[in-house]
Order: sequence, then C-alpha cells, then structure tokens
Amino acid sequence: MFNLTGLTTLKLPFYASSILKLSSIENVCVSMPDLASTPRLIVGGGSNLVVLEPEFDGVVLRPEIQCFKPVQTGDDVYLEVGAGHSWHHTVMQTLNEGWFGLENLALIPGWMGAAPVQNIGAYGVELKDHCLRVKLYDFEEQAVIELAASELAFGYRHSILKESPDRFLVLTVTLKLSTRPQPRVEYGAIIEELERQGLNPSSPLDVAKAVMSIRQAKLPDPDETPNVGSFFKNPVVRTAVADRLKAQFPEMPTYPDGEQTKIAAGWLIDHLGLKGHQIGGFSVHKRQALVLTNDGSGTADDLRALVALIRSSVKATFGLSLAVEPTEVGQLT
Ligand SMILES: Cc1cc2nc3c(=O)[nH]c(=O)nc-3n(C[C@H](O)[C@H](O)[C@H](O)COP(=O)(O)OP(=O)(O)OC[C@H]3O[C@@H](n4cnc5c(N)ncnc54)[C@H](O)[C@@H]3O)c2cc1C
Repeated sequence: MFNLTGLTTLKLPFYASSILKLSSIENVCVSMPDLASTPRLIVGGGSNLVVLEPEFDGVVLRPEIQCFKPVQTGDDVYLEVGAGHSWHHTVMQTLNEGWFGLENLALIPGWMGAAPVQNIGAYGVELKDHCLRVKLYDFEEQAVIELAASELAFGYRHSILKESPDRFLVLTVTLKLSTRPQPRVEYGAIIEELERQGLNPSSPLDVAKAVMSIRQAKLPDPDETPNVGSFFKNPVVRTAVADRLKAQFPEMPTYPDGEQTKIAAGWLIDHLGLKGHQIGGFSVHKRQALVLTNDGSGTADDLRALVALIRSSVKATFGLSLAVEPTEVGQLT
C-alpha cells in the first residue's frame, strides 16, 4: 500500500492500494473507463478530508489538470481554470491581472477542483457568486459534461458534487470576474483591519491583504498544525428557534440566511468552555473553537471522542445538532 498520510492536512494515517495522477482532460478520458467499478477517492489539497479508516482499498485520483483561459467581454472576465491549480494562487493571480471578485476568498487552502464541491465561502462571499460553469467527468455517463452554476444546487457548504462524490470529477471551473472593483468589506472585521493597516477599502488587493491578516491571526497554519479548517457547519435554523435561543443567550451571534437564521457554531463551542479542550492528540483550537487540531499523535478514536463530546454538549445546552463540514472517509460516529 502507498503511504498517503502527507496528502491530507489533518495528517491521520492514510494508505491506499494505488494512486493515479491525472494531468489532462485527455488523460482522464483514457484512464477513467477502466476504473468504473474500482472504489475511488479524489484528493486535491487534502484540506477538507478526514480519513478515519487508515487503509483505502481503491485508487486515489489526483486531478492535477492545468488550464488558465481568460476571455474578456467589456468589463466581464470569464476565466476557465484547471482543477489542479492552487485556489489561493489563482485568487492572487486574478487580482494582479486586475480581475476582481475573489478578494474575500484569499488564503483558503486547497485546489480549484474542490472549490465548487462544498461551495467554498468566507467573509460574506461564496464560490457560487463567481462561478459560471463547471466541466466534469461523469463516471455514470463515462463522458465529459458541462453544468451551469444554476444546475449545481449550490448552498451553504453544499452542492450536488458533495452529494454525489462517486459520480463527478471536476476538470475545470469557469469563474466570472470583473475589471470593475466592487469590494465587499462589511463582513467580519475587514473594515477594522483595513483601518488598522492603513489600507484602501476600495482596492480589492488591499481587501485581500486584510482578509489574509485576519485569517493568519485567527486560524492555525495547516503546514504547522494539522487541521481542516472549520470542523462543523454553522447550524441554520428557523428564525423562531434562533429568537428563542437569543432570548436565553443574548450575546449569541446570529446572521440572517434567507428566511432562516444561521448561528455561529464556534460561539456555541466556546460558550461551553471547550476552547483548548484536548482528548489524546486532538484539541479544540485555542483561538478558533470551530477548528480541531492534531498535535501529530492524534488517532481517529481521539477525534471521534472529541467530536462526540462537542456534539453532545451543544445538543444538551442549546438543543442544536452540529453537522460535520469536511468529507469523512470512514465512520466518525
Ligand atoms: C486552515 C483552513 C482554513 C479553511 N478555510 C476555509 C474557508 O474559509 N472556507 C471554506 O469553504 N473552506 C475552508 N477550508 C476547507 C478547505 O480548504 C476547502 O474546502 C477547499 O476547497 C478544499 O480543497 P482541497 O483541494 O484541499 O480538497 P480535498 O480536501 O482534497 O477534497 C475535499 C472534497 O472534495 C473532493 N474533491 C477534491 N477535488 C475534486 C475534484 N477535482 N473533483 C471532484 N471532487 C473533488 C474530495 O473527494 C473531497 O470530498 C479551510 C481549510 C483549512 C485547513
């Protein structure tokens, strides 16, 4: 078996029978039909994967497809990017070209191909706001297809790609950007950070710099401290439920989410005094309670125990169920 532990940022033991690098769409079309009935796992940057069973008896696919094709029409820029590009490098490259829109999404780890899978988002912006279409390999049809953003059922950390992990492999993502800057600075501490650093709120590059500083101060660097970012999704509940909780816990942060209300899961965990709580090699991060970190000695059982404690405590105090955000390989409960 191949030791692929280093391919995921959580660094739980991970061995697979084989690994296949896919460098082009032609390469995918030639090799995939043979793998139609083989268990498959697609791994990009491995920053949203929790491997709970160390041995995977199948093939790990690494879509390293490179492509960077801009088409400009007036102020609009349509940019097709291959699944193997780093997300953050793409964000910085677009800003340097003067193509704006992705500034709030700077410094999210991972590859382009995974971005539509969970509709990545940060600081009030989601991939869906800038995704035009996605080119996919469809394992069921054994063909390359294109789906428009409207066909991907994008939602909060959700898309049909996340729902059907065995069916689709993302080949390229076409982004829609603009040469007209329209920075969105009203979310989180962006304004305060711009002011603190003397940066210009109308410059998308400066907004990206502020976002990067906030993230660096709050989140552990996965290269130094193994983690997968937010471990839990923020619960989205009926507004009546949120109002009832807010009456009981007035300082609980809530955000409108369509007709419903989103509750900050990190605050719930923090309020229970669980920041810094450790079981074996896994801990709740000291600065950001939504992030669980591995000190390098953590086991899947340590993680299971910590997750069970957090979920049962949140349920007992707030009556809310926490859903896990990253993809699980194996059973967490
Ligand atoms: C410190 C840190 C901060 C983070 N902050 C954020 C954040 O602010 N917002 C956010 O949304 N996420 C965040 N994340 C989570 C993660 O970075 C994103 O979900 C990212 O898009 C994952 O990319 P990846 O290439 O590492 O995906 P992987 O972990 O390799 O894969 C994730 C899932 O996508 C599937 N997949 C990967 N590539 C493809 C492909 N080409 N085709 C089909 N399926 C594929 C995998 O099978 C798996 O199910 C953070 C993670 C860390 C470690």
